[in-house]
Amino acid sequence: MSWFSGFEQICRRDVPLRDHTWYRLGGPARWFFTPPDEDELAALLARCRELGIAWRILGQGANVIARDEGFDGAVIKLGGPAFEEVRFKGEQVYAAAGADFPQLVKTCLERGLVGLEGLAGVPGSVGGLVRMNAGGKYGQIADVVDAVRLIDAHGRIVTRPAAEIGFGYRRTGLAGCTILGAKFALRRGDGEAALKKYHEVWTLKQQSQPPVGQRTAGCIFKNPPGQPAGALLEQAGLKGQRYGGAEISTKHANFILAGADATAADVLHLIDHARERVRATADVELELEVDVW
Ligand SMILES: Cc1cc2nc3c(=O)[nH]c(=O)nc-3n(C[C@H](O)[C@H](O)[C@H](O)COP(=O)(O)OP(=O)(O)OC[C@H]3O[C@@H](n4cnc5c(N)ncnc54)[C@H](O)[C@@H]3O)c2cc1C
Repeated sequence: MSWFSGFEQICRRDVPLRDHTWYRLGGPARWFFTPPDEDELAALLARCRELGIAWRILGQGANVIARDEGFDGAVIKLGGPAFEEVRFKGEQVYAAAGADFPQLVKTCLERGLVGLEGLAGVPGSVGGLVRMNAGGKYGQIADVVDAVRLIDAHGRIVTRPAAEIGFGYRRTGLAGCTILGAKFALRRGDGEAALKKYHEVWTLKQQSQPPVGQRTAGCIFKNPPGQPAGALLEQAGLKGQRYGGAEISTKHANFILAGADATAADVLHLIDHARERVRATADVELELEVDVW
């Protein structure tokens, strides 16, 4: 009997992670699960915990570099109707973890609900954005999260107020937790001004970053205190440097592009090289923003 007995219907073996990440890199996940609802997800997580099976939750893979050798454990993808539900109640919105975040931003703006427009152009799922406290110059998701529904590290389904999520710069205190959804506190405001801001933020991102659709995972490094990582990388002369099929963007040095023949090892090599150069030139230790599996 296999360790995932009872979950055979939702399990595939050796699923290439390159098919599930924006980088389109990465070897196979040994087991790849697509639970249809929260109960099955909770039961699967309990089984993993009980048997010590390594697991990862996958959103849209916009912040993940999966290694070429793959992931020797269970990757659990939250998708399908039960994980993509969005409910509106006045100025409150509840979005399940698998809901597409850019679509949520647009839907809220169409309904005259403002607050998310500063996050224009951040790809991913609601769960992924909350987990990463994604954001940028114009705000972070923590600014509008009211509460998060999650399965905690002991397997309990709980709703925690934003103050208990441990939101920090591109981080949360949610290690070992699985986000099921988030409640956002938005406002009925000046819809036109919000739409204008949305387009401005979107345009600024297009001007300063590689085009969406290029194979990246967004910014590789977090900004250290004081100055942006991109500036440090640029000052270290890293723009345009290549290794194998990977290249540090000439437009924004904190992005590494994967070309047609790139491997995850190529990207990881450039990351190590960039870190070393910034250490040598600026005496700064860069911390990863992307998640390496
Ligand atoms: C072109 C581009 C532009 C980007 N711009 C920005 C930007 O401006 N600002 C920014 O902050 N980021 C940016 N990113 C990174 C990315 O959009 C965010 O990190 C986003 O939050 C990733 O969401 P995801 O669903 O793809 O998460 P994934 O990449 O699938 O997962 C990211 C991490 O979150 C965990 N996770 C995902 N879902 C859950 C869940 N339900 N419960 C628990 N853990 C979960 C995963 O295990 C993983 O550790 C960009 C990426 C790209 C490709």
